[in-house]
Amino acid sequence: MEKANILIVEDEQKLSRVLQLELEYENYATEIANNGKDALNKLEDGNWDLVLLDIMLPELSGMEVLRRFRRTNQSTPIILLTARDQVHDKVSGLDLGANDYMTKPFQIEELLARVRVHLRQRSTIEQNGEQLSVGDLNVDIGTREVKREDKQIELTPREFDLLIYLLKNKNQVLTRDQLIEHVWGFDYYGDTNVVDVYIRYLRQKVDKEFNRAYIQTVRGVGYTIKDHVQ
Ligand code: CA
Repeated sequence: MEKANILIVEDEQKLSRVLQLELEYENYATEIANNGKDALNKLEDGNWDLVLLDIMLPELSGMEVLRRFRRTNQSTPIILLTARDQVHDKVSGLDLGANDYMTKPFQIEELLARVRVHLRQRSTIEQNGEQLSVGDLNVDIGTREVKREDKQIELTPREFDLLIYLLKNKNQVLTRDQLIEHVWGFDYYGDTNVVDVYIRYLRQKVDKEFNRAYIQTVRGVGYTIKDHVQ
């Protein structure tokens, strides 16, 4: 298989070098951009499978890089690298179309796990084509459009990823641990309550106003999306 190409946008040289060594050790091809302008040039010229994007950058901020890149590219996964005091930036970064974020300082193992998840989601999306559905709920993976009864539903990137994973495995019961591993990309960080919280968000948006609920709780086990609701 061809190596996945990862662009590391980070102005702290020590960190970008560590990231590069670790990613290349995992057999990814990498390049480093150390300011915002350089990042935009490399994004436009290259064919990237994933981008690690620091927010605080010289020349052009990471948020501006994200905003400009997403005008023409909605599909390449982007993981933001943020400092602990940039909570506001995380939220607006996700709104601008980042897929995930890591708060510095982070464990390299956790970053690698998330990189694997986003690359895997990307390759299954490419293999499976663009549409997923159950009943009147339709998801276009390419445009990230979610509709029910032709009504547009707005989801955050994490809610979207959770819905996609449930739909890809519809009629199968998924445990909280499975959902954590495949949607969040790590199984040792935080606790599995986060799954219940996101399922609740998703139900609010996808099921609440409609008379059929697709997302089902399987008591003591986890969650499933069912074709046929009893
Ligand atoms: Ca920085």
